[in-house]
Amino acid sequence: MLISATTKLYYQNPYWRECTATVLHQVTDEFQKNWVAFDQTIFYPTGGGQPHDTGYIGQHKVLDVEDREGVVWHQIENPLHSDQKQIQMSIDWDRRFDHMQQHAGQHILSAAFAEEYRASTIGFHLGQETCTIDLDIKELTEEMAKEVEAYANQIVFENRDIIARFVHEEELEKYPLRKKPTVEEDIRLVIIPDFDYNPCGGTHPNRTGEVGPILILQWEKHKGHIRLEFTVGKRTVERLHDKHALLRQVSRLLQTNEAGLQEALLRLHTEQKELADELLQVKEALFSHEKDMLIRQAEQLADRMLITQRYEERPLSELQKIAQLITGQEANAIVLLITGGTKQQFVCACGKEADVEMNTWVKRILPRVEGKGGGNALIAQGGAASTYNPDQIHTYAREELQILLEK
Ligand SMILES: [Zn+2]
Repeated sequence: MLISATTKLYYQNPYWRECTATVLHQVTDEFQKNWVAFDQTIFYPTGGGQPHDTGYIGQHKVLDVEDREGVVWHQIENPLHSDQKQIQMSIDWDRRFDHMQQHAGQHILSAAFAEEYRASTIGFHLGQETCTIDLDIKELTEEMAKEVEAYANQIVFENRDIIARFVHEEELEKYPLRKKPTVEEDIRLVIIPDFDYNPCGGTHPNRTGEVGPILILQWEKHKGHIRLEFTVGKRTVERLHDKHALLRQVSRLLQTNEAGLQEALLRLHTEQKELADELLQVKEALFSHEKDMLIRQAEQLADRMLITQRYEERPLSELQKIAQLITGQEANAIVLLITGGTKQQFVCACGKEADVEMNTWVKRILPRVEGKGGGNALIAQGGAASTYNPDQIHTYAREELQILLEK
């Protein structure tokens, strides 16, 4: 089946939003997708880093557009009626114009980098929210980025012509191209006179003023190059609006204005650090107080001091801290601290003269509470299955300790 190449109206005039076309062919592929080709189209197919257009063909939503050997195929949800020959098509103009802005903005930004820092662009991605280019350059400073951004926007403000033209291969040497065309015939150059000459098959506005503001967002090292993220046109305006709304909100929260934000945040940071230090001191005083109380409540067991306590919910780290405070002070103390709550955990600790191995004790408790744990001779800890409460753990632990001490 030979189908004649589609007349690509988006090259004749990228501003056309509607047209009438004649149906030439319709196929359903192996994935049950319906594709239609026409004599002409205003739908731009995915290619050259620019996503395809969306819109309507008759009543049918266009889901995808592909160029296969010069024929532009449109994917629609349901096949067209076989007697339908002439049909109206319209593209989603907001989406197309956004792509025109991003695409042309990329040309300008890439040209600005090439001119200012001889940094060529080796990759381009037009994303849903932002775009990226990969620059063949090792380092990029804030100063360089600002300078290139200003230069690119200057080209926008000067509202220069953007000319797209098909040329023959022999003509190419007349133009100072930054990169070689990837095709040998139907070579299309996108020219911003005295600034940029680029082989490109995408859609662009007629003048740089329509491209709108170019904003560099951030950059990072990527495979030995710099990957730079930016927005163009309406996306830039929307992004800046949202950013300023956020800044106003944050300023209100911190009871300052934008200029005072940095200072207010630094102050908050310092205050928070001071509070954390203070909290630590208070906690340490509390732990020391708890240690004294627990020592007073100690019972005697086989010439040792036994201290046990159950808590409703407490971090294991606090139990360890308290246990160590006790055993640091009382050399013959054996301590068992248990917490319930979201996790059933326990700590076993002893002083240097207690003469029992805590890891051995914990190892004996664990099978009885279906738990896991470990430690050394002076301090060990474990976690029990959630079906065991602190009282049960306490009972089993005491039984096992009794056995250990009798050995
Ligand atoms: Zn382009």
